[in-house]
Amino acid sequence: MGFGGRGSIRLGRVFGVPVYVSPTWFIVAAVITIGFEPIVARSFPDLGAGTYAITFAFAVLLYASVFLHEVSHAVTSIRLGIAVRGITLHFLGGHTEIERESPTPGRDLLVSAAGPLVSLAIGGAAYLAALPVDADIPEYLLLVLASANVIVGAFNLLPALPLDGGHMLRAVVWRITGDENRGTVVAARAGQVLAVAVIGVPFLLAGGRPTLFGILWAALVALLLWNGATQALTVARMRARLPELNTSRLARPAVSVSADLPVSEALRQAREAGATSMILVDAAGRPIAVVNESALAALPEERRPWVPISNMAKSLQDGMVLGPGVSGEDLLRAMRRRPSSEYLVLDETGRVYGVLVSADVDSALSAR
Ligand SMILES: [Zn+2]
Repeated sequence: MGFGGRGSIRLGRVFGVPVYVSPTWFIVAAVITIGFEPIVARSFPDLGAGTYAITFAFAVLLYASVFLHEVSHAVTSIRLGIAVRGITLHFLGGHTEIERESPTPGRDLLVSAAGPLVSLAIGGAAYLAALPVDADIPEYLLLVLASANVIVGAFNLLPALPLDGGHMLRAVVWRITGDENRGTVVAARAGQVLAVAVIGVPFLLAGGRPTLFGILWAALVALLLWNGATQALTVARMRARLPELNTSRLARPAVSVSADLPVSEALRQAREAGATSMILVDAAGRPIAVVNESALAALPEERRPWVPISNMAKSLQDGMVLGPGVSGEDLLRAMRRRPSSEYLVLDETGRVYGVLVSADVDSALSAR
């Protein structure tokens, strides 16, 4: 997975961390500039088209604050020794991707809290900065910026995934129970509840008569929250199954056959040996290739006597041979390093143990 998402534009690096901007950013900057103009025009009726300059300045300041929010996640993470892959600014804010899950709940809590705290701090600073200012427009901009940052900070502190507060709740539950997955499940369920609750917000605010814009906005936020929370649940479910992933447990029993046999004869030998997969060996009996199950299945039965089994096999390459008892994260990492539909599994003595089929690993991960 390339970081930054589809079509993201790379801006540069901050503290060594690549920063990307999603094209959706420009759409929302335009929506803010145009959408808030009538409100600004009510406060500054004499400005004419100059009101667009104010709303555009607000959009830029808002994103600058969101950027600082993300940078504070990134810097905290780096300070705690957790590498950061990148920062992406997108239409609802930003996202900082750290290299791996924080190894301790304490670090996770600090990294998550850093962002909202910076938003609240910017809000407070903008408010204080507005106090001595008497000029209408700068004061107006500072006050709007202050409230926007307080809203961003407070909203992100809500204890529900995928929000920062959800990561904090997850860390707290993880710390108390000692179970990282339990933390994820609790915070993700809270995220689903919040997603449903958000739909009611425009109705509450408008006394039962919300605007269409309000409803659409709430629906969009609800959808993003719901997706984020549900994705976190899926990951938690997968992680709970990781210990069950094991080459020795998942490998299919294999038979070693000579590479020059026709498919029909190789299949007969496999049936006789009670094997469900095949390894091709050279004249000295050394494994050289693994038979691909789907290629074999696609071959019409009447052609089996005429096609050599080696046509149905993939030559062994570096990384396609796994040892016994490779499990969990280690197994997934090995499979990511050398993607293949089949792997040869050896036993402790270096002899053929079986064949690990990638599809079997996938179904073990996603089984309900
Ligand atoms: Zn954040």
